[in-house]
Amino acid sequence: MAAKIIDGKQIAAQMREELKAEVAALAKKGIVPGLGVILVGDDPASKSYVTAKQKACQETGMFALDNRMPEKTSQKELLDAIDKMNKDRRIHGILVQLPLPKHIEEPDVLLAIDPAKDIDGFHPVNVGKMVTGQKAFLPCTPHGVIQLLIRCGVKIEGAEVVIVGRSNIVGKPLANILIQKSPLGNATVTVCHTRTKNLAEHTRRADIVIAAAGSPNTITADMIKAGAVVIDVGVNRVDDPSKKAGYRLVGDVDFERVKEKASLITPVPGGVGPMTITMLLYNTVESAKCAAGLSK
Ligand code: NAP
Repeated sequence: MAAKIIDGKQIAAQMREELKAEVAALAKKGIVPGLGVILVGDDPASKSYVTAKQKACQETGMFALDNRMPEKTSQKELLDAIDKMNKDRRIHGILVQLPLPKHIEEPDVLLAIDPAKDIDGFHPVNVGKMVTGQKAFLPCTPHGVIQLLIRCGVKIEGAEVVIVGRSNIVGKPLANILIQKSPLGNATVTVCHTRTKNLAEHTRRADIVIAAAGSPNTITADMIKAGAVVIDVGVNRVDDPSKKAGYRLVGDVDFERVKEKASLITPVPGGVGPMTITMLLYNTVESAKCAAGLSK
């Protein structure tokens, strides 16, 4: 039987409605969650991500502050801009759009963000808290994946989860959240990468396969067991002359064939993608509540 397709757009829209209601309730207490975004350079993809984040912010009733800096911005100028947002009481979450120009040291930039405003969850303080099971901002894409699973009624506790990919922004944090003794975790997790000896041997045992490799067709139908849940984080461009842009977006999973074998599957686009910005808004609201003493 063909898999049920997980509608990430619909789940994200529902979460945004919930956030909108929460933001409206906070407004009555005089609290307006604020997101500060810094973009360095003219990368078109980064520009469109930043614009989408700000639009989402405003639609939810939050305050958004935009600082677009030229490509030649020095590291010192960027650190100063971050410091200004660290001190700005209207801002509860700071996002520095990655990647940064090559002359800027990314680790130094991530360290400069006040951990209390690090809504991307990339600051080592938040990473350390996440790993040790303390309350922390969870990185948005991994947290979005987990919300999709929970909201689709997938049982994470006790599940055998195989993650393909070990990046700092997707694979590693996902694994860390899923092994925690918490309602988001209690899974048994295997993390695979390019040095994994027999990838299919691992993925075939999994109740939940999460693909975050960045390469089309990394997961094919013979690599999953019947009835598995398949989450595709990958976003890859493949040539498609029939499209105006000359390309289309696909994930890491051979969607058409795998959907015939899985029980639940995310499409690309329209699966994990819409959840990422939603979780950014979620973290900003959480941060505003913390700053107001409404949550720890
Ligand atoms: P990344 O930093 O390039 O990491 C890819 C990981 O996958 C690496 O650990 C790599 O192993 C592993 N890998 C690559 N090919 C593999 C293969 N054939 N078999 C096993 N492992 C393989 O990528 P990322 O930043 O995590 O992103 C992954 C994908 O998710 C990309 O397509 C990206 O665009 C997408 N993404 C989507 C969202 C969203 O919001 N939807 C957000 C973030 C990322 P090694 O470590 O051994 O090299």
